[in-house]
Amino acid sequence: MSGAHNYINMFNLKGRKAIVTGGSRGIGKALAEALAAHGADVAIVVKSSLERAEKLAADLKASGTDSFAIQADVALEDDVQRMTDAVIERWGRIDILVNNAGIVLPAAAEDCALEDWRKTMSVNLDGVFLVSRAVGRQMITQKSGSIINIGSMSGRIVNWPFRHAAYNVSKAGVHMLTKALATEWAEHGIRVNALAPGYIMTELTDDVLREHPDVVNNHWAKGAVQNRIGTVEELAGATIYLASDASSFTTGEVITIDGGLTLR
Ligand code: NAD
Repeated sequence: MSGAHNYINMFNLKGRKAIVTGGSRGIGKALAEALAAHGADVAIVVKSSLERAEKLAADLKASGTDSFAIQADVALEDDVQRMTDAVIERWGRIDILVNNAGIVLPAAAEDCALEDWRKTMSVNLDGVFLVSRAVGRQMITQKSGSIINIGSMSGRIVNWPFRHAAYNVSKAGVHMLTKALATEWAEHGIRVNALAPGYIMTELTDDVLREHPDVVNNHWAKGAVQNRIGTVEELAGATIYLASDASSFTTGEVITIDGGLTLR
């Protein structure tokens, strides 16, 4: 090793305080585990059943972090404020926010009920705004913080054959909100970035695999130049990069992780 810079330590999150929304399963769970593995204390936010989140928090605690589970619906302003206040009361600060909670309600545009359109927007877009605003206010007082929004390749392209215009629009909104917040909050030392995953196997996509294996194999996997679907673990590296000092000059960026699906 040469030079004074500690390159290994750039990825160290020891003692950093992180929030992961929708953190008890799927992508959120893997990202919570990855943050904790790098030393962060993690607040796992879940909408309803606390049981799974508490089990995960106990596992992360056993590995030496001060992690805990907390209930909040990200689409509800009062829930978000209560959750944020509770985290600040426990830790006194918030260094990392992963806005991961999201839903997809597939429907052809001509059949999409206004209620489903609004529900999608309220979780996927209002939720990212509300949690970022509440946590951002704290990060402004600290003059530091890293926010990571989970967008989607569906915010960049219209993926096919399932139809979910509301989801696509909500995720495009997440990407633009990422850039807007990065611009507004740079002067406060806050960085805001997003991941745009391609198809990743989770409980969200398990049902599709069961019911439409042809779509998963012929469209999802073959659509990627790597000819496969991704795993939740394959989103961890970029998350640790964005959460840590390794990305100190990266803000307003949307990192696509899709096995090359959006290349063609
Ligand atoms: P998932 O359904 O397994 O997890 C989503 C989590 O969000 C769940 O824990 C759920 O309870 C939570 N959630 C939903 N509504 C909520 C609310 N109102 N308040 C709080 N929590 C709420 O799905 P996943 O595949 O792990 O997806 C996680 C994120 O990644 C989502 O934003 C999704 O859009 C995005 N994404 C997923 C894929 C994929 O292929 N799986 C691809 C691109 C983007």
